[in-house]
Amino acid sequence: SLNGKAALVTGSTSGIGLGIAHALAAEGANILMNGFGDAGQIEALRAGTAAKFGVKVAYSPADISKPDQVAAMVAQARTELGGLDILVNNAGIQFTANIEDFPAEQWDRIIAINLSGAFHATKAAIPGMKAKGWGRIINIASAHGLVASAQKVAYVAAKHGILGLTKVAAIELANSGVTCNAICPGWVLTPLVQKQLEDHAQKEGKDIEAVKAEFLAEKQPMRQFSTPEQIGAAAVFLCSEGAKTITGIPLSVDGGWVAQ
Ligand code: NAD
Repeated sequence: SLNGKAALVTGSTSGIGLGIAHALAAEGANILMNGFGDAGQIEALRAGTAAKFGVKVAYSPADISKPDQVAAMVAQARTELGGLDILVNNAGIQFTANIEDFPAEQWDRIIAINLSGAFHATKAAIPGMKAKGWGRIINIASAHGLVASAQKVAYVAAKHGILGLTKVAAIELANSGVTCNAICPGWVLTPLVQKQLEDHAQKEGKDIEAVKAEFLAEKQPMRQFSTPEQIGAAAVFLCSEGAKTITGIPLSVDGGWVAQ
């Protein structure tokens, strides 16, 4: 159990991050949620999570693309949850276009959120974890951290980069009681993917169900989406005693995507 541990999950107002926050809370961890959205909906998620799992749940509105806000968020974990034992770098965005048409601002934004944000959060979290002699850092990479797809240059570069960050942290922290691993999901049906499905359906004049089947058939031998709950279960495993000597790995939860 993760009773009394303090966990920060970036980008946990939606999708995979919310699934991870719920899975950690179900194990007894207190949670610092983060992410954008409607203030009323976020407060309902915060209070609902606290009530459902009987844990403390706080919220940080930090923009992960802003290093000073990321540092303040880690400090907030200390003041509101008494420390930071588990850091899940999950916040991420997507933008698709061929390289020659890819706006430079989108490149900068994706690198800032999907890669640099994880560096700044990890840097801020490490001293407290080392002092306690226990910590878990989990980076939500992607199958796109291991292999590429067309039209996702910034995302694929950021996700490959986060696996590099994961490995360096694992080596530096190897004898400190702190592990650092990545989870590499394949397709998970979240708002991030829903938008890609809708854009493609509109461009090709197809219906959403047909595009879902097409996306799965193109990349995933197992033709079903993974769920945020399943990614949450992988995160819980990486926090467990059984995973104590697992560090620096990409844990694929991808229906066979990178087995091909
Ligand atoms: P999502 O859009 O449902 O959730 C993204 C979350 O990040 C939201 O809570 C959003 O508010 C937050 N966020 C976005 N920009 C932020 C910023 N600047 N500061 C703080 N929070 C910010 O997306 P998701 O599919 O759940 O994606 C979560 C992570 O999983 C991402 O890193 C994504 O790359 C990764 N991933 C997703 C899939 C998939 O199929 N959905 C597959 C592999 C990896």
